[in-house]
Amino acid sequence: MRIVQIPTGAPYQVRIGEGLLSLLGEETERVHRPCRAVVITESNVAPLYLDRALDSLRQAGFEAEGFVFPAGEEHKTVDTYIAIQRRLVQLGLTREDLLVALGGGVTGDMTGFAAATYQRGIPFVQVPTTLLCAVDASVGGKTAIDLPEGKNMVGAFHQPILVLCDPDTFRTLPDQRWQDGAAEMLKHGVIADGDLFGRLKEGRWREDAAELVERNVAIKRSFVVGDEKDRGKRQLLNFGHTIGHAVEALSHFSLSHGQAVAIGMIAETRAARRMGWTELNEEILLEAAEKNGLPTRTEFTPGQVLEIALRDKKRRSDTLGVVVPLGLGAARLEQVPVNLLPEYLEKGLIL
Ligand code: MG
Repeated sequence: MRIVQIPTGAPYQVRIGEGLLSLLGEETERVHRPCRAVVITESNVAPLYLDRALDSLRQAGFEAEGFVFPAGEEHKTVDTYIAIQRRLVQLGLTREDLLVALGGGVTGDMTGFAAATYQRGIPFVQVPTTLLCAVDASVGGKTAIDLPEGKNMVGAFHQPILVLCDPDTFRTLPDQRWQDGAAEMLKHGVIADGDLFGRLKEGRWREDAAELVERNVAIKRSFVVGDEKDRGKRQLLNFGHTIGHAVEALSHFSLSHGQAVAIGMIAETRAARRMGWTELNEEILLEAAEKNGLPTRTEFTPGQVLEIALRDKKRRSDTLGVVVPLGLGAARLEQVPVNLLPEYLEKGLIL
């Protein structure tokens, strides 16, 4: 088993290993005495892994129940959130009990936010079943739901008490879900680890998923620790996400998060190069994206992207922080005045 320590305010571990899902109960018992546990998951994951999770928890003495919501980002809504909260009340869950997020990023965000707010906060365990969630969303404690006006508009910082990652669960993922994970790993490579980028750029790395999860979690930790509330270096993790979130929203989520981030990383690198802020050429990112099955461009216009970027959570009153990659393995934040944003976006999006 691979273990990464996350020394946030309340420290926890990310434990990675094949077959760990069947040990969910005993692993959870190491960090929380047996209690009532509600495993929250979605309709794609439930038939595959919910019974195994519940059995393992029950064997370890937990009184475990499942809650299944319809799969998809379009269900990361206030309605699903309220349905979860009401179910927790009906089950009589107290602050001594816990939630388990079994699934990908949507499940993790939703369950984390439910845990952050139910009776002002209860503990939760995260069991990522997608590569994307394992390398990204399972570290950092960001939880949220979407509003019709935008993604992740309502949320909280709430750290899990344990993250348990079983890469065996990735085997059932369709190609597109692997590609989503590749996008966030490539991002880590660009901003922090040129060797990792080199390892990923040909697109042949699936056999090494456990090791890559460990490496990427360690990179993410290095950005999150000391900046839990996302006010400093952690913002570099937003590379590709200013334009990425906008095209993701504009596509009404027909673009997946990873696809949108790939488009965003390439466009933001092109914009930074043309603004004279970096010498890194986006071609190298474009090739790596293609070899990893990711899209490289969008038909959405700079004007459409601008409208959404102005509502970005990273915006201050008169500037928007964008990430400038300085090469493979380094990046910095640039505060772009709002009146320069149209030029920045045109430079990034117009070929
Ligand atoms: Mg992301």
